[in-house]
Amino acid sequence: MILILLGPPGAGKGTQAKLLTQAYGIPHISTGDMFRDHKARGTELGKKIQAIMDAGELVTDEITNALVKDRLARSDVTKGFILDGYPRTIAQAEYLEQLLRSMGQSVDRVISYEVAEELVVERISGRRSCPRCGAVFHVSANPPRRTGFCDKDGTALVQRDDDKPENVKKRMQEYADKTWPLKRFFQERGKVVEVEGVGTPEGILAATQLALGARR
Ligand code: AMP
Repeated sequence: MILILLGPPGAGKGTQAKLLTQAYGIPHISTGDMFRDHKARGTELGKKIQAIMDAGELVTDEITNALVKDRLARSDVTKGFILDGYPRTIAQAEYLEQLLRSMGQSVDRVISYEVAEELVVERISGRRSCPRCGAVFHVSANPPRRTGFCDKDGTALVQRDDDKPENVKKRMQEYADKTWPLKRFFQERGKVVEVEGVGTPEGILAATQLALGARR
């Protein structure tokens, strides 16, 4: 099963992707995580994209598509996968469509997480993550047991540069301009199911699984 998770930054796509990975036993592919990993390791690619990412802008389609092409060449994707944060532009969606066609595959469902803008901004500004293990917390909605430190490994939590208020606005604008049109793109292909992205992670997972039984 090939799933795409669509929705604004802070809609909970990453959290749902992790739960869906466990539920369906297929890998979670997050271009944001892959880019962050390059940044953290200081690779050539990481250096190239650092400033773009920190400012909340989109990495070029060329770089992003190449990253995804490499990822989908690995052997763990044969039973399907969950794309989180990709595609983010129409050009990426068209590229993906062709790439999958060349692999004899196609997207099964696009899950569109519907969340009001005020709520996503609130979620993003309170988000803190562990730079070591990637665990994600929220200062009020999902606080760690010890303020500022990861529950799993005790590492000091950080706020992603692109989650800082000055960059959140830019990301929301990028979403509105470039990613929002993807919903229509996939609706025209009959792939979209809408899920209310509000509630507990488990509640949203249940709603997602229910929605996967229907297609709109
Ligand atoms: P995310 O974790 O999905 O919010 O992604 C974090 C950042 O990585 C974005 O703000 C972009 O700078 C970059 N990024 C992730 N996925 C893409 C993509 N599909 N296209 C372009 N840039 C991306």
